[in-house]
Amino acid sequence: MKKGIPISPGIAVARAFRWEHALGQHSPHLIDSTALSGELVRFDHACVAVGLELDRTIERVQSEVSNEAAEIFRAHRSMLRDPNLVGKVHSIILRRQIDVTSALGEALAEYEALFGQLKDEYLRERISDIRDVVGRLMSQIAMEDTQLKLQSTEPIILVAPEILPSQAVMFDRFQIQGIVTETGGSTGHAAILARALGIPAVSGIPDIWKEVHQGDLIAMDGREGHVHINPGPEVESAYRKLQREYVHQRDRMVENRDLPAVSQDGHAIELLSNVNGVPDALVSQSVGASGVGLYRTEYLFLTHPTVPTESEQYENYRQIIEQAPNRRVIIRTLDLGGDKQVPYLGTHREANPFMGWRSVRLLSAYPDFFQTQLRAILRAGQAGDVGLLFPMISTVEEIHRLRRLVDRTRMELTRGNVPFQGKLAIGVMIEVPAAALCIDQMLDEVDFVSIGSNDLTQYVMAADRDNPKVAHLCEPFHPPVFRLLRSVIRTCNERGKPVTLCGEMAGRPRCVLPLLGMGLRRFSMSPAFVPTIKALIRKIDLKDCIPIAEQVTRLRRADEVRAYLSERLRAICPNIAMLDTL
Ligand code: PEP
Ligand code: MG
Repeated sequence: MKKGIPISPGIAVARAFRWEHALGQHSPHLIDSTALSGELVRFDHACVAVGLELDRTIERVQSEVSNEAAEIFRAHRSMLRDPNLVGKVHSIILRRQIDVTSALGEALAEYEALFGQLKDEYLRERISDIRDVVGRLMSQIAMEDTQLKLQSTEPIILVAPEILPSQAVMFDRFQIQGIVTETGGSTGHAAILARALGIPAVSGIPDIWKEVHQGDLIAMDGREGHVHINPGPEVESAYRKLQREYVHQRDRMVENRDLPAVSQDGHAIELLSNVNGVPDALVSQSVGASGVGLYRTEYLFLTHPTVPTESEQYENYRQIIEQAPNRRVIIRTLDLGGDKQVPYLGTHREANPFMGWRSVRLLSAYPDFFQTQLRAILRAGQAGDVGLLFPMISTVEEIHRLRRLVDRTRMELTRGNVPFQGKLAIGVMIEVPAAALCIDQMLDEVDFVSIGSNDLTQYVMAADRDNPKVAHLCEPFHPPVFRLLRSVIRTCNERGKPVTLCGEMAGRPRCVLPLLGMGLRRFSMSPAFVPTIKALIRKIDLKDCIPIAEQVTRLRRADEVRAYLSERLRAICPNIAMLDTL
């Protein structure tokens, strides 16, 4: 048995599907000389497809960002016809007799070595453009391969070096029964998507991709992070039994969908859902959420080949609002960067992407881009009860700048006689420690706040949420995380400003107990967890959570906090304890 990091709860037993084309991890395949022309054709096809995609990008960026920004993509477009690049890839395929993706990787490595020697910094930096184009070609080839290979409808467990959010968002939950990866942390966006889809997942198992063969039988438990490759009949049947019990327990929770989320001692708790697209908004209704507490709009951009226009965005936001429970939605503005990249904003690879140029920090470079999104949100806001949420806020100045942009957008819409929602509540996410420490000052500027505990944890602990090597640090059981949360929740409650927690902690029963004890009354989580958290709320007395909150801030070690919360949860609700990741 291999032990990895528990990422998404649930049990799966199915055949392994080795996914070879997770970006950047690829060992060269030797190609039979008679099939080499096929690899050349694959490369040429990919150049045509990427060229068309770039044409669309240039058009959109030209009209919605600036001519200067569009220039970048014109240069990328011309690289696809550059005889040097094309000739190099062709010659590597033929000379080394390897597949097109490996040839692209080798061509890139040659350019990197060459550019690395250049003295002129400007010219040296141009390597990032080559990387960008090669990355697009690799993604195109990977996408075609994936579509081809995932055409089989048999249930599978995906085994891959890593999974990107833009890939996970396309997964079919019925076909993909489980995911096992070498890298990726439990609050990375691929993990969040796996949980939202209800797919059990384990990460942090080095070399699993090399060890597993296509079609091996895999039995896995996403709650504990256990993975067996080709287990014997006893282990297989034990896992199948566990799976039946797990599914039975989880499905029973949905029976409470129409019951109120009220504790034994009569306190009403608001359970909202985090959604990444229209289907999630629909599911939120069927699981009994009372609204959407977080719409991550970046998925619209990640799954769109080019910049979505204002009318495409408007249409999408309107659909989300119409499908959401009670038509209540908090729409978060674009939160790109970190592990979520789109090619057209030039968010190039950075040494520290999570600390870098991400999210609202892109505003000064792309004000028109943000304004287009605001126009679409303000217009769609007429369809329901909508709040506007800004992510990754570090300073009060950022809020001032964003509010000015909202005011300007309102004025423009008024001037153009375009109908829009004038009274949209404005909130910010508390996910940077600077904002959490100055919560009193932040509250002066906004109508509500939402705590992004995924990012807050990674920044408080200085541990990348996507790196399994520091996963033991990037988890909420560390007392400093709970201490900071307690102070934010307390200040918001004292000031009477609505506070929600929308990170992954909101869907984990072990974390919900102390958060309730700290006075939190609004939780927003993946729809998959709403029934379980509702069952928990209906089972407990809120006053019993107060000593739990006190204890987690008094203990000194994360393992003590985890053991203590596990023991409390088992004592209060043993059937719910079995549904949570450890
Ligand atoms: C968070 O950081 O907790 C959050 C909800 O935002 P995201 O996971 O999309 O970064
Ligand atoms: Mg965040």
